[in-house]
Amino acid sequence: MFIDGAWVEARSGKTFDVTNPATGEVLGTVPAGDATDATAAIDAASQAFPAWSSTTAYERSRLLYRAWELMVERSEALAQLMTSEQGKPLKASRAEVKYAADFLIWFAEEAKRVTGEWLPSQRADQRFLSVKAPVGVVAAVTPWNYPISMLTRKMGPALAAGCTLVLKPAEATPLCAKATYEVFIDAGFPDGVINLVTAADPVPIGDVFTGDPRVAKLTFTGSTAVGRTLAAKSAANLQRISVELGGHAPFIVFPDADPVHAAKGAAALKFLNAGQACISPNRLYVPNSLRSEFEETLCSRVSKLQTGNGMEDGIGVGPLVNDAAVSKVEQQVEDAREKGAGVPVGGARLTEGEHASGHFFAPTVLTDVRPDMTIYREETFGPVAPVIGYDDPEQVLDLANDTNYGLAAYVYTRDISVAMRAFEALRFGIIGVNDVNPTSASVPFGGMGDSGVGREGGHEGINEYLETKTGGFAI
Ligand code: NAD
Repeated sequence: MFIDGAWVEARSGKTFDVTNPATGEVLGTVPAGDATDATAAIDAASQAFPAWSSTTAYERSRLLYRAWELMVERSEALAQLMTSEQGKPLKASRAEVKYAADFLIWFAEEAKRVTGEWLPSQRADQRFLSVKAPVGVVAAVTPWNYPISMLTRKMGPALAAGCTLVLKPAEATPLCAKATYEVFIDAGFPDGVINLVTAADPVPIGDVFTGDPRVAKLTFTGSTAVGRTLAAKSAANLQRISVELGGHAPFIVFPDADPVHAAKGAAALKFLNAGQACISPNRLYVPNSLRSEFEETLCSRVSKLQTGNGMEDGIGVGPLVNDAAVSKVEQQVEDAREKGAGVPVGGARLTEGEHASGHFFAPTVLTDVRPDMTIYREETFGPVAPVIGYDDPEQVLDLANDTNYGLAAYVYTRDISVAMRAFEALRFGIIGVNDVNPTSASVPFGGMGDSGVGREGGHEGINEYLETKTGGFAI
């Protein structure tokens, strides 16, 4: 763990192992921090805050820019570590490291764009000034599925704004967090500004983060259930919160779309990170008139995907994070099969040969999926593409919006009016129109409803770490 400028063990001396989800091999051992360690980290962050928040925006920008340079220099080593620890294919890990580094250079620039306003008064002898100030100590909790970019997406804006922070990474991916911290440390961030607490049991850490009045802001990415619990606890201390949670993305093919192009897009998007992405499509709505062409292309693509250890050439789908994740996918597929879904490709765990010691599920296509199936409502977080036939393009937007989640949605059409109407009608924070990658460090990322509160990235990302201060000057 990294507390107050030093790498330290847990005060209890306890540790836990980190394993490779493709092979079961133990990759390393990290400290199992508890509440006392989390409190020590908050002590350090809170002592460092006055000096750090007084640095100039140019100084903070320079350090973030240096961190960006170092992350780019180390990108191959970081990508290899990510594939070993998290499982995604090496090519996808390289793309994630680039995305992670993008947040550093983006917020290195945004640090210098935080400005204020001179506002009018009713009184001739009064002047108003409105400025931004850093919120204070930030507590961050991050998930395992994007184990480097989810850190930089929070650390970049928090540090740019002048906040200090304490971060707890997911228990499955602390080594990626450690390597990310090494980038920041080598860039020269002062002692106490960034602190890292690893833990095998996240609950006591979450209790300290939400219960310590010195924490001004909680930023969380993970499941809706945990986000809701942490948000409720932090409300008692009136902490500012951003919670980026789960999703259940619709992927709508309109009748005028090219079904082959759309199916290729669906195959590329759905199986990224083995489906373990909050913006992964979970309901593919395809007009019955195009279904056979769409399904043929989708099945042909999916049946060619190779599943295995992401370090090997040609692997398109890696392991899932753990056995519980495989069981969840298995249950959703079985439930759909029992209720009448077709399973033209995949449909089972992979347990033989090279798959024997990892957590693998075969890339799967489900057809004839209906609303009474669990997969129609619950996030899958696995490599399963559920196809739902529809007839009425007027109704499909209502079907797509019929979810408590509101993170990502995708639309395929060649008609600009259809595209614009869909963009306006869909209640989701991120909408891809003929586009399978509607994300970037330069645009806001976040959801509506059960998908969370707040936005990361873009111009808005830094606002989550800033307070507004108004000055009235009688002259
Ligand atoms: P999770 O909620 O179990 O874990 C996320 C993080 O929360 C981990 O660091 C974990 O240790 C921690 N955590 C768990 N219980 C806690 C508690 N009581 N107190 C404090 N911390 C606690 O989720 P997960 O299974 O690791 O991640 C997958 C979920 O994350 C999916 O639902 C996915 O949609 C979501 N996700 C969302 C985004 C987004 O930006 N919206 C990005 C990635 C993942």
